[in-house]
Amino acid sequence: MKLMNGKNVAKSILENIKERTSSYEKKPGLAVILANNDEASKIYVNSKEKISDSLGFKSSVYRFNKSVTQGEIISLIHELNEDSEINGILVQLPLYNHLNQEQIIELIDPKKDVDGFHPINIGKLNCGLKPYAVCCTPKGIIKLLKAYKVKLKGQSVLVIGRSNIVGKPLATLLTLEDATVTLAHSKTKDLKSLTKNADIIISATGHPKLITADMITKGTVVVDVGITRQLTGGLVGDVDFEKIKDIAGYITPVPGGVGPMTIASLMENVLELFEQQNKRQE
Ligand code: NAP
Repeated sequence: MKLMNGKNVAKSILENIKERTSSYEKKPGLAVILANNDEASKIYVNSKEKISDSLGFKSSVYRFNKSVTQGEIISLIHELNEDSEINGILVQLPLYNHLNQEQIIELIDPKKDVDGFHPINIGKLNCGLKPYAVCCTPKGIIKLLKAYKVKLKGQSVLVIGRSNIVGKPLATLLTLEDATVTLAHSKTKDLKSLTKNADIIISATGHPKLITADMITKGTVVVDVGITRQLTGGLVGDVDFEKIKDIAGYITPVPGGVGPMTIASLMENVLELFEQQNKRQE
């Protein structure tokens, strides 16, 4: 089995960020808005706050209960956009159902859009221009593949899942790396024929055991983005890891694969936005 260990790669990225940050007098500032009651989101936000603090960033988390109004979130975003101590603004998704997610994301100053979800940043990415920040999970996946020297140029990459936060921006980034990308989704016919012919499969559906051993050709690189919490509390991905691990050329575990890379990319985005706003480059 050849494992792509996201935990180790992420650790070295975080160490590098800490070293870069230590030379700055002013510290990067991250603001996180949590406006939902979802247990997984609370865990993600706590972990982002903890890692941000450990890097010496200044992090502020705004937690709201269900009585929060669209107006209150909008006022906060305006305030954070103007706050020179805040370099990155993150709205943890999903939001409470009564809130208008699109309007809130569009109000974030694109220069502070640390998740890279703002239409300006997505548009720049699609045009091959440099966004202020690139979406964290797709960015982390590309970094992980590169850390293991997985060739992308000319390779057939199957991305399963077409969300705005993972599948679509990932397909764009892979195309920019000269991969030949197929983007599959729930209406795709005969997924198996596509997985069988792919050099690299990246699954981001949240559908446990969608990818089974009979769908894999020996040597295929398999990246599992999916995270599903089981009734027992454990996390599983989209891939039948135990049955595939000895067939795949490389494979990511869940947990410990793409997840840590997402957080490391988020922290890197905070630092990059800070450097852009303070006109400091690497
Ligand atoms: P999402 O918005 O629900 O999108 C899921 C995508 O999967 C959709 O495009 C859907 O197709 C497709 N899909 C669902 N069932 C399918 C099937 N049986 N065959 C083929 N395609 C199928 O989810 P998301 O936000 O992109 O997240 C996807 C998964 O990644 C979730 O498990 C999430 O928890 C995980 N995730 C992990 C990280 C990380 O850091 N590791 C970060 C973000 C997300 P349609 O478009 O046709 O509905």
